[in-house]
Amino acid sequence: MTERKHGFATRSIHAGQPADPLTGAVNVPIYLSSTFAQEEIGKNKGYDYSRAENPTRDALEANLASLEGGTSAHVFGSGMAAIMAMVTMLRTGDHVICGANVYGGTPRLFNEIVSRYGIEFSYVDTADPEKVRRAIRPTTRLVHIETPTNPLMMLTDIRAVADVCHERGVEMAVDNTFMSPYFQRPIELGADLVMHSTTKFLNGHSDGLGGVVVGTKPEHKETFAFVQKSTGGILSPFECWLVLRGVKTLALRMERHDANGRRVAEFLDGHSKISKVHYPGLASHPQHELAKRQMSGFGSMLSFETGSQTNANALLKRVKLCTLGESLGGVETLISHPASMTHAFLSAEERARLGITDGLVRISVGIEDIGDLLEDLDQALGAI
Ligand SMILES: *Cc1c(COP(=O)(O)O)cnc(C)c1O
Repeated sequence: MTERKHGFATRSIHAGQPADPLTGAVNVPIYLSSTFAQEEIGKNKGYDYSRAENPTRDALEANLASLEGGTSAHVFGSGMAAIMAMVTMLRTGDHVICGANVYGGTPRLFNEIVSRYGIEFSYVDTADPEKVRRAIRPTTRLVHIETPTNPLMMLTDIRAVADVCHERGVEMAVDNTFMSPYFQRPIELGADLVMHSTTKFLNGHSDGLGGVVVGTKPEHKETFAFVQKSTGGILSPFECWLVLRGVKTLALRMERHDANGRRVAEFLDGHSKISKVHYPGLASHPQHELAKRQMSGFGSMLSFETGSQTNANALLKRVKLCTLGESLGGVETLISHPASMTHAFLSAEERARLGITDGLVRISVGIEDIGDLLEDLDQALGAI
């Protein structure tokens, strides 16, 4: 078995997955079984029904808890289902502070569904920890942040916000989807909970949805296991296996994502048709110093300004290797137009306030050969 002292790549391959005791299989079997035979009343091998527990899911959860440095992990059918699981910690009258520029589905869930149950939400620019401090009320239970933000790649100082939260006895959750635990480890910086859409870098191959909540306290373990069993929004054994398989190459993939991300950012930054590149790895990024301190790499998410929707569309129509599509974190390079795609649900005024212009294009840089990616972007920029 792996131990905490082992390095990240070792744990990503071995944590939670010793060779199968029955056959020696080096991969955790996909336990496609809803129920498990019991020996006598009250006696089983630790499993009775797969909504409550499943061996493939257990392996993935042990693995992800190890990678994030948490004490428990629970996986759900999507990233949104994982956020919904965190919400079940709240009661009527509770207040939540959420980052002002988090994944669009998060405020949609909070405002359109969860607020019906008498839970209140404030949206705060968490890049300034003082704004978080001022927004805390006696009823505040949770601060939920995302860093870097989508698509403008603004950072929040996790440690500073965690300190503010803990002074006031509030729990802090970080959506770590954009960096993965390979480059950013919020629990080491003071976060109480980490969640991911495993759909993105953790699975890494754009072939399955999933979500995880990683906890740090005994009550997290108990609560989220109970939520899995009681609400049922669990990840299937097959998709657990896909994530287990994806995570084995996380370290390698993230290294390559990062190397390619830096090259694409530099290329665009030096291109005459691009007025601005948002990437924490560029010295021109306003929080470059924080990025160097808080993250061990800069990753492969970036956005850039083409000047107009017409320019953006000309580029997006012309790319051949980069795929125009939503989502991120897969091995293939995905390119998108936030104003009409991921952020279309916002009004034009709200987008303008956040700085999401009609000319903004976002890339999730994949792990293809960098020369091919740069050539594709270069020829596509010729359309502007
Ligand atoms: C995609 C995403 C989500 C939602 O995850 P799904 O798996 O699509 O439900 C949440 N947060 C971030 C940062 C995301 O990128």
